[in-house]
Amino acid sequence: MAEVTCSFCGRDKKDVDLMISGIHAHICDKCVTQANQILTEEKKNKVEAGSLPNFKLIKPREIKKFLDEYVIGQDAAKRVMSVAVYNHYKRLTQRKIDTDILIEKSNIIMVGETGTGKTYLARTLAKLLQVPFCIADATVLTEAGYVGEDVESILTRLLQAADYNTEAAERGIIYIDEIDKIARKSDNPSITRDVSGEGVQQALLKLLEGTVVNVPPQGGRKHPDQKMITVNTENILFICGGAFEGMSRVIGRRLNTRPLGFAASADSMSPSEIDKDNLLQFVSAQDLKTFGLIPELIGRLPVISYLNPLDHLALRKILTEPKNALIKQYKKLFEMENIEVEFKEGALDYIVEKAMEYKLGARGLRSVCEAIINDAMFELPSEKNIDKLIINRTYAEEKFSKSHYSKLKVA
Ligand code: ADP
Repeated sequence: MAEVTCSFCGRDKKDVDLMISGIHAHICDKCVTQANQILTEEKKNKVEAGSLPNFKLIKPREIKKFLDEYVIGQDAAKRVMSVAVYNHYKRLTQRKIDTDILIEKSNIIMVGETGTGKTYLARTLAKLLQVPFCIADATVLTEAGYVGEDVESILTRLLQAADYNTEAAERGIIYIDEIDKIARKSDNPSITRDVSGEGVQQALLKLLEGTVVNVPPQGGRKHPDQKMITVNTENILFICGGAFEGMSRVIGRRLNTRPLGFAASADSMSPSEIDKDNLLQFVSAQDLKTFGLIPELIGRLPVISYLNPLDHLALRKILTEPKNALIKQYKKLFEMENIEVEFKEGALDYIVEKAMEYKLGARGLRSVCEAIINDAMFELPSEKNIDKLIINRTYAEEKFSKSHYSKLKVA
């Protein structure tokens, strides 16, 4: 039998791990790896030399219009996000060779109570985007070497979202949820090791600034034999979100203790001019610092935005208006059983009232709806003669009071 050797490097089959055979030639695993590296390098050089990634620039107004179809209210945050994403695209398409003004990244931080739509906004944005996008949770992160996930695990997720196309991932967007949970716990970090606080902030800082990171492609702990993928975070846009519980108080205190001045900013407004019910709109870098985020990290999150608490009217709209509103979803589910379901105004108001009691923002709506409609969803598919279900206030009250939710204590 003729000896099989690699047609590229001449190595013998027994000297390599794997030999792939074509019609008239063979190639060994080492040559495949090398060829792949050459390809990647060439593609990268092309991008750097000014060939633009193929984007259709979506203008901020169009981005906001799309967000409006799904997310109720939150205009300020939507506008800020639309601009940031638009600029992110512009930055990516900027030719390195023909400019000396480099546009800097404008990473975003969003402050808003739980259930007001921070994650949802980011998720909706992802639908529209032509770059890889992932959501990471800051609470699971710990300093390298401790139990929990290393900060690099965020990049693993982005790589997965990009189907392991490193160049695509390097232009992606990452949403980091619950950023407030890694705030420094006390002013004196030496009392106990603050493994999930300042250390994580420091590690995140590097990612946000732009650095080259070795990422384990499958996640998990790094170990010496694992092949790493090198990711440069210079062009990745970071959006952080957090509830920052107690933030209104921090802002209120700051606004009240400021001496009055002439500037037209909120800082110098007289206390009576300030909308006390929604202090979040005045959130500033200083408040984030008071809250325990380190100044360097805040410096890397130059765009600060806020989400309004959801009032009765907003929750009511969320129930019925967005493209995939909850009530529309339930109607669809019953429609598939050939049952028409109608929610009366009184029932919708009741759902909103209950959701407000539980202080879970829009998240509460779902739980209340489930409690009300679960019986029907259980029984009706087996009923032959029912083709219409009317849910009015009395029906909603009765079902809800029987459910375990009604026994939960309201916070
Ligand atoms: P958080 O601010 O805590 O990240 P989420 O974005 O996860 O809150 O909101 C929870 C759910 O509530 C979302 O999945 C979405 O269905 C709904 N929701 C929240 N805010 C809005 C909003 N402004 N418009 C429409 N739906 C919303």
